[in-house]
Parts: sequence; structure tokens; C-alpha cells
Amino acid sequence: MKTINQAWTLAQTPKEGWPSADDFALVENKLPKVGPNQALTRTIYLSLDPYQWGRRRNGVEHPGEICHGRTVSEIVESRMTNYRPGDLVFNTNGWQKFGLIGEGVDVFGYMHPRKLNPSDAPITTAVGVLGMLGLTAYAGLSIQCQPVSGETVIVSAASGGVGQVAGQIAKINGCHVVGVAGRQEKCDFVVNELGFDQCVSHLSENYERDIQKACPHGADIYFENVGGKTYQGVLPLLNPNSRITVCGMISQYGNTDGLDTRELWNQIGQSTFDRQATTIHSLFVGNFVSSHQQEFLSKMSTWIKQDQIKYREHIWNGLAKAPEAFIAMLSGNNFGKTLVKIGEDPTI
Ligand code: NDP
Repeated sequence: MKTINQAWTLAQTPKEGWPSADDFALVENKLPKVGPNQALTRTIYLSLDPYQWGRRRNGVEHPGEICHGRTVSEIVESRMTNYRPGDLVFNTNGWQKFGLIGEGVDVFGYMHPRKLNPSDAPITTAVGVLGMLGLTAYAGLSIQCQPVSGETVIVSAASGGVGQVAGQIAKINGCHVVGVAGRQEKCDFVVNELGFDQCVSHLSENYERDIQKACPHGADIYFENVGGKTYQGVLPLLNPNSRITVCGMISQYGNTDGLDTRELWNQIGQSTFDRQATTIHSLFVGNFVSSHQQEFLSKMSTWIKQDQIKYREHIWNGLAKAPEAFIAMLSGNNFGKTLVKIGEDPTI
């Protein structure tokens, strides 16, 4: 095969603020050589996720290294007994057209390659609703917060990858679900397509009043994806025995001085003063893979088949678009789970 590989590398360690196009450099190199017990894969879809920005800012990725990312790929050459050319796999090729799986290849801790069956579900779901995003929503909502029918659940970044799923799981559990999202178009989607009871825009001048109005009986669960102004509006609404899962705080990721955790602590203390405490769970999806992935996959596949869980993807076209798509996702200019289509999808 004469094809050359193309990859986005980190051009510099970002020092502060949000990502810019200058942080990335497009390079060309030879296809990786397939060693014993390895296979060469061709990237079809690349998943772009907020945590990738944390890796870059915190120096986990170094300048010159290929940007990390989870992918859906096709095997093109194999020296592994269990993989054949044409097999479709979930793997972690990163921001590049070709990559290896197998012996000695970094799998990013807990995310081992696995074969995909396109007749079970569209292959994009392996990096979305049936992948890390879905498991994150399931772990935070179902396992940590344990929703009870009739409770009020607030989900921030409600139209995004994790938020969409968390809110729909709460609906399956019989809860009153209120989303928080940006543009009106996103709020409409959350209510009309996903079936949340209400959705409030954090862009509104009256955000605090609107969220209070949407939760006449207070809030029992808060699925936190955003932080900042959004969580400040939720805290006064927390009921006795309420639960928060701190999944992420995307509005804070570009801050130079980080989140002031004392402020968070004081506010939660104040809002629960003289009541029974709010339980705050910190969420790291990696902690739930070995214990809950099978249970999650079985439930989520059924919910999708029964049309109880819907999902929206925002798919950009071409590897060249990856930095632009990444910047858009972090600033709310995505609509649904962000993916980049890098190569031909044989299932379409
Ligand atoms: P999304 O698809 O939700 O995209 C990010 C969304 O965040 C945007 O669409 C935007 O929605 C919202 N947003 C961005 N900036 C702001 C802001 N300043 N104020 C309010 N909202 C903002 O991303 P994901 O679903 O991939 O991730 C959601 C969260 O889950 C993130 O915080 C991420 O870090 C976290 N996460 C945590 C994991 C864990 O193990 N704990 C695992 C995976 C994800 P809008 O336009 O509606 O404001």
C-alpha cells in the first residue's frame, strides 16, 4: 500500500485560555509498520471530547506527539489471530488516518480495542451513546445519584453528548427532567426530540429565575457538566437529600487560575444550611468500566432498540477539520456529540 499517513500533532503546550488553531500542526509520515501481534487500522470516525483539552493543557500530551482521541476504524492489515482485514473496531488511533492496535500499542489505560458489529448499532455509537459518553451518563445518573420516580433532575449541557443521555435515563426512571443548554434551537431539541420536560437557556438574562420556575419543587439531582453560572443557579434549588454528580465543569476549562473550590464548598454549605446534606459525587468514567460496562451495554442497547434513548451527532468531514471542530465543541458551537469523519464508512 502506497498511502501515506496524515496526523495532527500538538504544536505547543497551550499555556492558558482556550485552544487555538496554532496549538495544532498537520504532519505527514509513513504508515506505521505492522509488528507481530499487531494490526494496521484505517480511521473512519474520530471522537472529539472535552477531556482532550485537559490532557493538552496539563502537559500529558507533549509538543510533537499525535493528538490523542478515540476512534472507530477498519482493519487493513493484520498479524493478529482475532482480527481480519475488513473488521470494524473501536480503538484509539488519535487524530490520524492510520494507526496500530495490538501488542505494545498504548490503549489509554482502560479503553481496549474491541470489535464492532454494525448490525447491532451504527458504528458511530461506539464512541458515543454506547461508548464512554453513554457509560459516563449511566454511571453518574443511575449508579451514583440513584434517581427515584417523581424526583426533579437538572442536567447541564443537556444537548451535548453526555447530557442528552443523562436526561433521557432520568426520564426512563420517571423523573421530572429539566435541561440547561445554550441556544434556543438546542433547548427546543432537548424538549421536543429528547423528551425532557423543560429546558432553560443559560444565555438568558433571566437564567436564575427561569430555572427556579422550571423546578417548582426544587431539585433532587443535579448532573453537572458545566460549572460557573449554571451551577450557581442550581444550588439554591437543592432539596434535602439531594445528589450532585460532578461529571465536568466545561465553562471552567479555559480559566487560567482554575476553579475556586472554596467557593463551591461555601455555596453548597450555604444552600444546604439547616437541611439534610447534599451528597456530592465526583465522577471518573474509567472507574466504572470493569464493574459496570457489561450491564450498561446491555441496558443501553435495549433502550436504543426500544427508541427510549435517542441521540444526535455533529459530524465534521475530513481530518483537516479536526482543530476547528474541537474549538467549536469547547465553545458550544456543536450540536450533539462531536465526531470527525476521516475515512470512508463501509456501513453507509
Ligand atoms: P458536549 O457535547 O456536551 O459539548 C460541550 C457543551 O458544553 C457545549 O455544547 C456547550 O453546550 C456546553 N458549554 C461549553 N461552554 C459552556 C459555558 N461556558 N457555559 C455553559 N455551557 C457551556 O461535551 P461532552 O458531552 O463530551 O462532555 C460534557 C461534560 O462531561 C464535560 O464537562 C466533560 O468534561 C465531561 N465528561 C466527564 C467524564 C468523566 O469521566 N467525568 C467523561 C466524559 C465527559 P451549550 O451550547 O448548550 O451551552
